[in-house]
Amino acid sequence: MKFIADCMVGKLARWLRILGFDVVYFPRIEDDELINLAATEKRIILTRDHELIAKAKKRKTLTGQALLIESEKWEEQVEQVLEYFKLRPKIDPNSRCLECNEKLKFLPKARAKNLVPPFVYEKAEAFALCPKCGRVFWKGTHFRDMEKKISRFQK
Ligand SMILES: [Zn+2]
Repeated sequence: MKFIADCMVGKLARWLRILGFDVVYFPRIEDDELINLAATEKRIILTRDHELIAKAKKRKTLTGQALLIESEKWEEQVEQVLEYFKLRPKIDPNSRCLECNEKLKFLPKARAKNLVPPFVYEKAEAFALCPKCGRVFWKGTHFRDMEKKISRFQK
């Protein structure tokens, strides 16, 4: 299941990525462009815009779906998407690049040595690499805080 989020739900898009889901998001995109992309890539539109939903439904080429996001609060938006599409069992935290939406690859510690600062290399145990942008991710100090937030969605 793949998603495309409109400009108004950026934080929702980011959090769905943190939970491991495939979401594309553009800070600026025209409605028609967004609908085209949803159709060609078979993505479900996530939006708070009634008009966008109406436009998307009019388009005969549209094969995907659209979901109207109800809440203004990102936590409730995430809950709505997880609930609606029954995604809780599929949550796979920190498996996707937050910048480019690509699936991360496991990076053995030895290979991370020259890619991260020395103190990170010493402290961190698990590393992951984005094959698209080359960013290396690791479980850092902010991770515990994030774990707490993630676990509330996993309940
Ligand atoms: Zn990346």
